[in-house]
Amino acid sequence: MQSVAERDFQITQCVTCDQPLPTLVVGGSGPTREWECRNCGATYLASLAPSAPDHLRAAVKLSHYFLEYRAVESTLCAKDLERELRRHPRRPVMMCVPAVELDDELFPAGEDFTVISRNLSSSGIAIVHTHPLEGKLAVLIELPEIGHVQLLVNIVRCKKVGQLYEMGGAFFDRR
Ligand SMILES: [Zn+2]
Repeated sequence: MQSVAERDFQITQCVTCDQPLPTLVVGGSGPTREWECRNCGATYLASLAPSAPDHLRAAVKLSHYFLEYRAVESTLCAKDLERELRRHPRRPVMMCVPAVELDDELFPAGEDFTVISRNLSSSGIAIVHTHPLEGKLAVLIELPEIGHVQLLVNIVRCKKVGQLYEMGGAFFDRR
């Protein structure tokens, strides 16, 4: 019987178009996300190997950060989201939201964690967390009538409120 490690399958080039890819691990222990080959659009459900060469990162796009909601998730660009939220103003709703910090290339930097979303407006989102956050995040919020939506957020302010931190984030679109 094979061990889990032996069942890991590493992809270093696109199986469809042969373009070299940063090492993607299928069936490994890392967080599984959905990656897309920028050359041909082939998708991979895999984790990015820590050893993946940085210079190959441009060959893939992360299409879904939070795989468990991939099937029902819609992707809205910031402009459409703004229009939707203007049309259906939200009551302030506090809910737990999965989040992951992103690096400059919008790749996940670290583990997924949970924040509390406190407010959602047409221009951004207020989130509460036990630690101060900065930079960019991917979050997954649930909108009535739309369902789960993956959003990219740029943290623009942060203040300490009691034992917690409240951050304001502005939505932005992937380049
Ligand atoms: Zn390809």
